[in-house]
Amino acid sequence: MNMAMVILVRINRGLNADLGQGANTWATSNLMPDVKTSLTEQISKEWERRKSAPLLPEHVSIRWHNNRMPIPNTANLTVGDFYATHSTNGNAAIYLENVPSCWKSLSAKKKQPFMALELYVDTESWADSTKISDDDTSSTLRSIQNHPSRKRANSAESDHSLVKRTRTAEILSSQDSHLRSEFRMSNISGVAPVYTRSLVTLKKIVCISDPDQCTPEFESSSETVVGKLRDVPFSSGAMKHAYDVRVYFFGSYLLTMLQMRGNDGQNYVLKRFYRLSEDTENHIPGKLPFTIDDHRAQIEAEAMRLAIGAWFLEAFLRHANALNVAIYDRLEFARAFLGEEIQSPTPASCVKEITPGSPGLTWLVEFKRSSTVEHFTYTLSHRSTKRDLRSSTIYAFAHFVWGHSNKRLIIADIQGTPALVHGKDGMILFDPMMHTRDGASGVGDFGMQGILSFLEAHTCGDICRRLGLDKTAPLLLDNDSEEPATPDVHDSEDDPIDQEIASTLSPAARDPGSRLLYNFQGELGILLSVNIEQYPY
Ligand SMILES: [Zn+2]
Repeated sequence: MNMAMVILVRINRGLNADLGQGANTWATSNLMPDVKTSLTEQISKEWERRKSAPLLPEHVSIRWHNNRMPIPNTANLTVGDFYATHSTNGNAAIYLENVPSCWKSLSAKKKQPFMALELYVDTESWADSTKISDDDTSSTLRSIQNHPSRKRANSAESDHSLVKRTRTAEILSSQDSHLRSEFRMSNISGVAPVYTRSLVTLKKIVCISDPDQCTPEFESSSETVVGKLRDVPFSSGAMKHAYDVRVYFFGSYLLTMLQMRGNDGQNYVLKRFYRLSEDTENHIPGKLPFTIDDHRAQIEAEAMRLAIGAWFLEAFLRHANALNVAIYDRLEFARAFLGEEIQSPTPASCVKEITPGSPGLTWLVEFKRSSTVEHFTYTLSHRSTKRDLRSSTIYAFAHFVWGHSNKRLIIADIQGTPALVHGKDGMILFDPMMHTRDGASGVGDFGMQGILSFLEAHTCGDICRRLGLDKTAPLLLDNDSEEPATPDVHDSEDDPIDQEIASTLSPAARDPGSRLLYNFQGELGILLSVNIEQYPY
């Protein structure tokens, strides 16, 4: 089923026709963040002709006509659910029927569901992320807003730019007659590629970690996942390909017909490495540049990084809660499991045969989420460039990991997709990288170089300071330099370092028994081991 949308662009308080406006249709199964990303890409082309830096989805939000905020926690729903939520009870009159006059005659003629939305551009967050001073930004924006006829005055150039826009949306002029003739209820997307899928059977392996000791381990599950896997990836990162899989059932392999649960309503994504080192170039299509065992070790490390990230995030949220520091708490790491291909190999795995002596490829399996990605840090770049609460929280979380791991671990390449977290609009973090002292935690571990890149680039923000991280987890490499010169002359209970730390903390953190103690004893080599003897949070 399709849903029609008309979109106007709003910059601050005013609608802005110069960046384009359009009508298009979306399948109701599309996710709203993906719709937003696609629309942002369209207006960003015009934006970039006037501005120094592109507009990203994180600078933009979807609102209803007349700058009405959508109902809370609907930003990550599917198009169909977004529409349904805004059409229930008395909501239709507030949202759906509130249509700009230029679209009214169109909406009356069309029987299909129809939404009149605005793309709200948050110029402040854009300016923050591009390091342009507020004065510069507002004056530049004012110049856009004050010249609504610029496009018409420069029609040749404008026409050219229109041709270049993506075909999924019709970019229309603001004249009613033109709008009417261009409005289409079906997608005009040219010749679509035809994909093929192959049957995939996976043995499910779960990564479990103890809530007290972060020691991720793998456990074979009795479940088998059967689905149809796309033969080509839908997305590729620097090291990994991601493939879409439609799962037919999860169930016990021996009792498939009895225990099958059918499609559990979720689409999944299978991820695998296509190279294990950034130095690997010219990989031959259809051939893996590594052994199945080497890949297994790295994909296990990938699942462990997610488990470790989740473990630290939970500790971080508890820490902030104990100190009563307001943070953005709707964060979660992607939940994943491993799936080892059994029976016959898929074309996507590039494995020719599966026999008792040569196993199939092992995949990382995650729920399918929106493809919209927001980056917070990169592998070797950790600058705190954004100022919103969510970004500040994530920067502080990265600092917390350094302290809470007893200075053994840096979390890098933090990125997320907007999604529902505990039923609310939030962000799911995925594909984190880690730097450890011995550099042996897997792909992307730059060892000491990675650790130093964080220590040099991280700057503490408000949240870091309120959590006491600048004092308790200084950005210094050498642990010894912070230890007392003669640690054996006093009882550890009365350690002056601890007293100094305690004096910087809130009363909650100074409670007896809540001595801030980082005791991350394991080296993150093959398996990470954390033992919190006196867990303070
Ligand atoms: Zn900090």
